Amino acid sequence: MREAYLDNSATTRCFPEVVELMSKIYLEEYGNPSSMHHKGVEAEKYITEAKRTLAQILKVNEKNLVFTSCGTESDNIAIIGGALANQRKGRHLITTSIEHPAVLEAMKYLESQDFEVTYLPVDQYGVVSPDAVEEAVREDTILVSIMHTNNEIGSVQPIEEIGRRIKRKNPACLFHVDAVQGFGKARIYPKKWGVDLLAVSGHKIHAPKGIGFLYIGDKVKVRNLIFGGGQQNGMRSGTENVAGIAAMGLAARILYQDFDKEMEKLYGLREMFIALVRDIPDVFVNGPKERLGAPHIISLTVPGVRAEVLLHALEGKGVYVSSGSACATNRPHLSGTLEAIRLPREFMDNTIRISLSGMNTEEDIRQASDALHEVVPFLRKYTRH
Ligand code: PLP
Repeated sequence: MREAYLDNSATTRCFPEVVELMSKIYLEEYGNPSSMHHKGVEAEKYITEAKRTLAQILKVNEKNLVFTSCGTESDNIAIIGGALANQRKGRHLITTSIEHPAVLEAMKYLESQDFEVTYLPVDQYGVVSPDAVEEAVREDTILVSIMHTNNEIGSVQPIEEIGRRIKRKNPACLFHVDAVQGFGKARIYPKKWGVDLLAVSGHKIHAPKGIGFLYIGDKVKVRNLIFGGGQQNGMRSGTENVAGIAAMGLAARILYQDFDKEMEKLYGLREMFIALVRDIPDVFVNGPKERLGAPHIISLTVPGVRAEVLLHALEGKGVYVSSGSACATNRPHLSGTLEAIRLPREFMDNTIRISLSGMNTEEDIRQASDALHEVVPFLRKYTRH
């Protein structure tokens, strides 16, 4: 059966060039970058090169990048490490109600350690108001964490404006951005935007799972959470994942090489999908309108059909999507994001996420639309009586 993989916000397929590079590193240039001999130097070169690429894309200095094991680890270091290093200035933090568990659970942990956290609401499109952020920032606020692109509905936050407002109200307050869904799908300039910390993950951009990085701005104090051999200036001990780092650098280079063309393609596929499913009775798309949101995420509510049932019915037609957010679906709770945009409760369990990558084709979109047209009336017949 032909497969249409439309769950790219859960994870992506690696670029073939990326796998080739990793294979070369694993089989030939497998040295430990801390080793002083030739094999170590060889490995170190891959790290330097990946740093150069990533730093150029973000327009930051190479020395401000720390490699981690994933987006979750980057978020944790930023939030917990940032809070611990700055707790003398205050114990108040701010975030939004639509963050990924990598941020929300780190915040919860800090609450258990006597920090205070303010959770800001979003509008019906999933966007937080810069006015509300500015208002919430206090003298004792030490860190604000706001995601760039939401993983469930694709809303994109006005990060530059928010950065400006935070610094205007309290220049010492740190600004962390979870850019796991935004990096590769948007141009992001942390230094220019007043962002102090920025989390990215490799497996969302056609690099493998198990690699990520954290941007830490100049003079930003963050306490390390991992103790050991002192690699990466002590910020993140542990032998570097050289193949993963090189892979993430190469994948980012490929994505940003033809960035405008890639974005045009993704928006085109997104619009094609929405146009094709519009004639299925009662279905609707959640989140940002037209091109105001991310190009790759579509949150679709299909009233009368349970998301999990729909997901498996589509799977039967070779179409892979997710119900809500795949990263959080092993926990049976209603989606915080859908609740935050005030989607009526009865629709929350009727919502699936379709997420695209540049590897998708119009044929994938047609296959998904055909499958939906076929299975939805059938499933509704079963559930509506
Ligand atoms: N933040 C967001 C917005 C995400 O979508 C995800 C994963 O889906 C993460 C963080 C966690 O990233 P990782 O899977 O690399 O730990």
